[in-house]
Amino acid sequence: MYDIAIIGLGPAGATIARLLSKKYKVLALDRKIENRGKCCGGLLSPDAQKILASFNLCLPKEVLVNPQIFSVRTIDLDNNLERYYQRFYLNMDRAKFDKWLISLIPTSVDIINKATCRKITKIDEGYKIEYEKENKIYTQEAKVVIGADGANSIVRNTIDKKHKIKRYVSIQEWYENEEQSPVYTSIFDSKLTDSYSWTISKDDYFIVGGAFPEDNCDQRFEKLKEELLKKGYKFSKEKLYRREGCFVYLTNTWHSTFTGKDNIYLIGESAGMISSSSLEGISYAMESAYILAEVLNKKLLNSNKQYHRKTLKIRLKLKIKILKRPFMYNKILRKLVMKSGLQAITKIGTNIK
Ligand SMILES: Cc1cc2nc3c(=O)[nH]c(=O)nc-3n(C[C@H](O)[C@H](O)[C@H](O)COP(=O)(O)OP(=O)(O)OC[C@H]3O[C@@H](n4cnc5c(N)ncnc54)[C@H](O)[C@@H]3O)c2cc1C
Repeated sequence: MYDIAIIGLGPAGATIARLLSKKYKVLALDRKIENRGKCCGGLLSPDAQKILASFNLCLPKEVLVNPQIFSVRTIDLDNNLERYYQRFYLNMDRAKFDKWLISLIPTSVDIINKATCRKITKIDEGYKIEYEKENKIYTQEAKVVIGADGANSIVRNTIDKKHKIKRYVSIQEWYENEEQSPVYTSIFDSKLTDSYSWTISKDDYFIVGGAFPEDNCDQRFEKLKEELLKKGYKFSKEKLYRREGCFVYLTNTWHSTFTGKDNIYLIGESAGMISSSSLEGISYAMESAYILAEVLNKKLLNSNKQYHRKTLKIRLKLKIKILKRPFMYNKILRKLVMKSGLQAITKIGTNIK
């Protein structure tokens, strides 16, 4: 029997797998296919950079992509407004970032790749984990289970029937980029979504993406593309390289975060730790993983309360994001903010002939 089973090796799972004490027998499994990154903007926020700094980790340059962008073009289609704001993100290849974090996991952790967790059942000494690999079902047992399996988490769904969390569909399309000058854009249009949409350039690709309510998500995405073409963005069906999608939790209620119970712990997005305003979540994934590692390294069993208590700062930060939402998503408030020009950048040099 394992002491700990980690389900999912995204930023949350890979971080905790690296930080758990070697005194524990640890199993980690992930379903992802090699070199295929999560459907994600792949922007490393200043908060995430700070956490990597606190881990004494430096990002290998191979993880970065071209170009590094210093501003976001914000388009408000409801009010027909546009502004540029300074940003301090690092533009990354998300697949390479996850792979790098996994490469830091000590060899003492047993990793099972391309394995999908299908069921978790309570047994006397802990939990039975059923997973599927190459069309066969296997089982393992562990005293403690860590859900690091992102949005639509099977671990969360197993233990939390009470706190229903809103789930949106994210869609991204990658286009071979020939004519588009590099740009990062966020688009707000309440007819398409009460979350937001974006474009971002990564190496030779121009990406169009958005997070949409589940009903008619494809039509909403098509409409977004029409709006972008009208705005002068250049991408065409012939140049479509890849289409990807995933669920994302919309944590816009006070009860969206749930840290687990009965020796099952949730970290990262499975715990609802993702910003409801910007969808930024890598920093919360790594921070919650660090907190849980500290707690479990002291005491393996029955530490749910301690973990919950120690995530208070993160949970408060996420609640502040909920308060910020109306200024981004309410048409009237956003109009006031954008019209005021507060914190906006004046673009110079763009009209020089
Ligand atoms: C479209 C989009 C854009 C985003 N852009 C950004 C951004 O630019 N910057 C940012 O900071 N955040 C961004 N986020 C949020 C960010 O992607 C997540 O918050 C972050 O990845 C959460 O990390 P995690 O480790 O908790 O979960 P994930 O990164 O989702 O990792 C979960 C892992 O679990 C595995 N898994 C899932 N289910 C199972 C199962 N049943 N069995 C086995 N393995 C399983 C998956 O393969 C995956 O590797 C974005 C999210 C979306 C949807």
